[in-house]
Amino acid sequence: TPFIITLDGPAGVGKSTLAKQLADHFEIAYLDTGAMFRATAWKLGEGSWNWDSSRIEEALKSFSFTLSGSGSNSVLSLNGVPLTNDIRTETVGMWASNVAKIPAVRAFQKIAQRKIGETTSLIAEGRDMGTVIFPQAPCKFFLDADLEERARRRFSQLEEMGKPADMSELLDQIKARDDQDRNRKEAPLKAADDAIIVDTTTLDIDGVFEKLVAEAKK
Ligand code: C5P
Repeated sequence: TPFIITLDGPAGVGKSTLAKQLADHFEIAYLDTGAMFRATAWKLGEGSWNWDSSRIEEALKSFSFTLSGSGSNSVLSLNGVPLTNDIRTETVGMWASNVAKIPAVRAFQKIAQRKIGETTSLIAEGRDMGTVIFPQAPCKFFLDADLEERARRRFSQLEEMGKPADMSELLDQIKARDDQDRNRKEAPLKAADDAIIVDTTTLDIDGVFEKLVAEAKK
């Protein structure tokens, strides 16, 4: 049976970078579930979060996510088309957070994500991997960091992607998105009871990586 490590936490904490490193280290795939919500929001389009649930459900019937490859070369596709960096902006992040509140979207994602985990060992990264999607995972992490530090990390990440952002705007956007993710009714952002919580504010990525690998091997 596939082996699953869950990695949850707020925006900008460094989950994606760590998920890729862990996936390379353990030679398994990584599943970026935030990208699944982003791609869903992108494809449904702006304002789709105000649609009634039957329209959403109808639209989701034509969505099929697949994961191929391994380690940092894992590729997530929607209807056979690999996801691109178009979905990486903070604007699309907020769209994703808006559609992520919709029960029909969460139900759809739950089925899609568990289906991938049925056949594939994973580093599963997101907000509710340890609490809702893979509660049976033997190894769960929850990463946290101060808001300012997370905004700085996101800033550099976006810059590297060639999508520069305004620092103070980014701070406001990340805060608004986290507040919405923490306070929603379904699958709010929080650590699973049995998750290992790591505050990464003062740690660099290598330090966090070593810590997670050591814990995962226990
Ligand atoms: O991780 P990322 O910033 O790409 O996630 C985008 C948004 O998708 C999050 O702010 C959150 O609202 C939603 N999300 C979620 N559950 C997950 C992953 C992401 O609700 N497992």
